[in-house]
Amino acid sequence: MKQRVAGFFKSFLLWELLKGLRLTGRYLFSRKITVRYPDEKTPQSPRFRGLHALRRYPNGEERCIACKLCEAVCPALAITIDSEERDDGTRRTTRYDIDLFKCIYCGFCEEACPVDSIVETRVFEYHFEKRGEQIMHKEDLLAIGDKYEEQIAADREADSQYR
Ligand code: SF4
Ligand code: SF4
Repeated sequence: MKQRVAGFFKSFLLWELLKGLRLTGRYLFSRKITVRYPDEKTPQSPRFRGLHALRRYPNGEERCIACKLCEAVCPALAITIDSEERDDGTRRTTRYDIDLFKCIYCGFCEEACPVDSIVETRVFEYHFEKRGEQIMHKEDLLAIGDKYEEQIAADREADSQYR
């Protein structure tokens, strides 16, 4: 009975509304934390795991030696590699595909790579418009690596300080 009377007076005095307004008032004058994406962006870690890339050495030679460790370690079976021996006796990939619909961005591939070839960049704003575009081929991955090499190298350097 006592509770029902209290509930009646609370609803009569718009108690819940006042509680809501108190919360609104508290945040009205506090520092705003809303980010106006895409004009503003939140900070990213050097370990951010976004779009994949294949890197080259400064002389232009691709780093990947087709050891297939990344393919073996990938829990999502997202990587497919074919390889062959070149005339100079070195082994290189003839096919390097990553299916980004299968990928779970775990980073195992870059952890496994002995030559720092496959990496995940900070790029996260991308989309696909046609079926099949989600499969990134070797040429696509190398092109991404070429485009973002400066950032990738800086991130690897920053990350190495914590290893
Ligand atoms: S990030 Fe993980 S799931 Fe994606 S390709 Fe690499 S190992 Fe596979
Ligand atoms: S990207 Fe690295 S781990 Fe994968 S096949 Fe090439 S060298 Fe091996």
